[in-house]
Amino acid sequence: MLVATTTALALRCPNCGKIQYHALSLFSFSVQKTIRFTCTCGAPLLLISTKDRRVFYFQLECLMCERRHLLQYFLKDIWSSQVLSLTCEETGLEVGFVGPREQVKKCIANQERSLREMAEDLGFADYFTNPEIMYEILDALHKIAEEGNLTCQCGNPQIEVEIFAERVELKCPSCGALGVLDAESRADLQTIQNSWEIELKPGGLQLLGLGKVRRSRRRSKK
Ligand SMILES: [Zn+2]
Ligand SMILES: [Zn+2]
Ligand SMILES: [Zn+2]
Repeated sequence: MLVATTTALALRCPNCGKIQYHALSLFSFSVQKTIRFTCTCGAPLLLISTKDRRVFYFQLECLMCERRHLLQYFLKDIWSSQVLSLTCEETGLEVGFVGPREQVKKCIANQERSLREMAEDLGFADYFTNPEIMYEILDALHKIAEEGNLTCQCGNPQIEVEIFAERVELKCPSCGALGVLDAESRADLQTIQNSWEIELKPGGLQLLGLGKVRRSRRRSKK
């Protein structure tokens, strides 16, 4: 039986957003009690410490909520054939993975999939009123979300997306706010392409962007 004493660790940097892989050897802990992982940009990512090499304490700098999470795992959770996902307790989102390298890579690839790819995989093309418009709207929405500009007024950053034939519904599971984006015409597409921020609020959503009515603020572009 082959026992893996090295496990892979994938973490996304809260500072620069890059994903980096690190190797974590069980034997490193025989010399040191604490191991620090730092991004190439210099930002601290994770600190693992143990007293007895049985219980390991993780201090994770979280990308999602910008706080530090304290997590506790056993040796068998970390050096295992299963992937362990490091989850933000604030948002429930996965911020890192620990486990066999190939599997960890797969988890990252899954996470990187765009809304469009997910919809395409479901074989939805025939279902949409105007697939071309829908896919482009999903791309635009994905971009806004990735930049952290899809939010709810209640402060919850995790917005649910439901896709229908001619519209996309955005819902906040935390306060119940619901907003609808039409996804049928070129004008619908232009609306979202001209937006740089979407905020859900009770009774609808607000698109903020160029050429749209915005909260009295004007972006001066020269
Ligand atoms: Zn970084
Ligand atoms: Zn968090
Ligand atoms: Zn909300």
